[in-house]
Amino acid sequence: MSMNIAIDGPAGAGKSTIAKKLAKELGFIYVDTGAMYRAMAYYFLQNGIASDDEAAIAKACPAVDVTIAYENGEQQVLLNGENVNGVIRTEQVGNMASATSVYPVVRKKLVAKADVIMDGRDIGTCVLPNAQVKIYLTASSKTRATRRYEELTAKGESCDLKEIEKDIIERDYRDMHRETSPLKQAEDAVLVDSSDLTIDEVVAAIREIYQKKKGE
Ligand code: C5P
Repeated sequence: MSMNIAIDGPAGAGKSTIAKKLAKELGFIYVDTGAMYRAMAYYFLQNGIASDDEAAIAKACPAVDVTIAYENGEQQVLLNGENVNGVIRTEQVGNMASATSVYPVVRKKLVAKADVIMDGRDIGTCVLPNAQVKIYLTASSKTRATRRYEELTAKGESCDLKEIEKDIIERDYRDMHRETSPLKQAEDAVLVDSSDLTIDEVVAAIREIYQKKKGE
């Protein structure tokens, strides 16, 4: 039987790091759905479309083609055929993704795939409602802000920890309160709080949940 693993949670909880490691260990394909919303957001930014201009966004959507390709096991996001992996990880694009992913017209562009680990906000609740393993991965906003701060600083981007935490809290609120597919823990999801856990400890905890399910 094929297995699906859904990992949802707020920004900066470590979803993509954990999902990537688990996928490698378990031989699953990893799909980072946030990257797809980021690619769309990047398109809107490049084309001068404001996040609150729903009509312009709806008009632009048919011209946006986001696909996923794999190179050496790494996910590559293609925006109208162009690899945008290197330009979608900024705070500006992340905030734009959060602001524009509230629109159903944008959400409809995401297509569900099978036999995968997917991470995002609504994977366990909407995209893969039948996933055998559902994880709600979270951490305190302070921990998440510190992680993002360290990630950005390591890349040489200058940033402000307080600003990042404020952005994260705003993003959480928007992701949790939007009408379409809000971020919430699925009823059958297991809550994992990574605030005081290392990456390897989180991977081990989820692997154990997966192995238990598989043995059932
Ligand atoms: O996970 P990441 O920070 O890359 O996602 C960027 C934004 O895309 C999130 O803040 C969220 O608003 C949106 N998103 C979503 N549904 C998903 C994945 C991401 O709405 N499944």
